[in-house]
Amino acid sequence: MIQPPKDLPLDSILPEEPLLLMGAGPVPVSNRVAMANSVVINHLGETMDKVIERVRLMSQYVFQTSSPHVLGVAGPGSAAMEMAITNLVWPGRKVLSINNGFFSGRLAEMSRRSGGEVDEISLEVGQSADPDAIEILLKERQYDVLTIVQGETSCTVWNRPLAEITKLARRYGVFSVVDAVCTLSTMPLEMDEWQVDVVITGGQKGLASIPGVSLIAFSEHVWPEIMGRTAPMPHWCLDVKLAQQFWEEKGYHYTAPVSGILALHEALRQVCQETLPLRFERHATCSVALQHAIEAMGMSLFVQPHSRLNSVVGITVPDGVDANQVLKTMSSLYKVEISGSFGLNLVRIGQMGEQSRAHNLFRTLHALGMSMKSAGAHIDLPAGMAELERMLDTRESLTA
Ligand SMILES: *Cc1c(COP(=O)(O)O)cnc(C)c1O
Repeated sequence: MIQPPKDLPLDSILPEEPLLLMGAGPVPVSNRVAMANSVVINHLGETMDKVIERVRLMSQYVFQTSSPHVLGVAGPGSAAMEMAITNLVWPGRKVLSINNGFFSGRLAEMSRRSGGEVDEISLEVGQSADPDAIEILLKERQYDVLTIVQGETSCTVWNRPLAEITKLARRYGVFSVVDAVCTLSTMPLEMDEWQVDVVITGGQKGLASIPGVSLIAFSEHVWPEIMGRTAPMPHWCLDVKLAQQFWEEKGYHYTAPVSGILALHEALRQVCQETLPLRFERHATCSVALQHAIEAMGMSLFVQPHSRLNSVVGITVPDGVDANQVLKTMSSLYKVEISGSFGLNLVRIGQMGEQSRAHNLFRTLHALGMSMKSAGAHIDLPAGMAELERMLDTRESLTA
């Protein structure tokens, strides 16, 4: 018989002081979200029905859509991406996939795996998508689906003309799929107004909930296409026709991740209570202040202002500095964790949810500056801290 391993309490694995999560996700969750996540209820029945109804209602506000077709997915943001793709792409379908980096490239890869004929447009690193160039492509070939990311977390690019692009897609009869995993509720995204057909988000980034439960919204425009699908659907868990039996008809599909949905309920409630305009303003103010402070310290930001994402800030690693050493010093000495990158020469600081609070910014900037100095960077930390204070000092709303 195989024996149980030596007992190891969780306390001996977790750090004594939790790190402040200032990376590209997961982000810190509020106590309310954490408490909700500790509750287990039946996945079917009156109580759950009420919770689901509220999650859908609050999601409609957060996605800015009157479409009733908002569903949850048990799984990471990638599962929601896969749900969008597998329900709209099958052999013979033509997909135009705008690639700004790691995550938008994943949508193209998923489309290929689903049998789609994919034209993948790879933009230069740091470049945002250009509607005119996309329109030329839309004229050349009749596509079925266009995939694009609102914010490319990996290289910190914002596709600023997103609304123009999704409206073009609608005009050319193409369904648009928008990945808003890191951006939803941190910056404007108006699903109905912008004529977006599918919006994907995850739990652990912009929404400031836990990882593992994601949301996806379908427009009323694309819904008949999905319900009327005749091509075989190889994915059982991700089949929208089955998922909507739970999310819209209170029936059984699979056992929903009840605790994660309760957590999401609280995260959505906090967005609704703060209201989107104030939440956008808080995120923009904090991120821009951080960006100015980093420059004042003598470092450069990875992306030019025009296409720079606010939700995740990319900092070019100074010459001769080892990024891994900086990250290690930040976490071991200052108990602040930020992210490295997928092969690019940058480190990234998240500005999503509770990360966008003045006290977290001061602590993070100080930790970054001290760690950069000890890794050999020539920077002016006091100048950076002073700039952050100057940018934030009149904003009481940022410390709630
Ligand atoms: C994080 C992220 C994803 C993937 O989310 P997972 O939960 O890791 O699967 C997809 N797209 C974007 C833009 C992201 O930031």
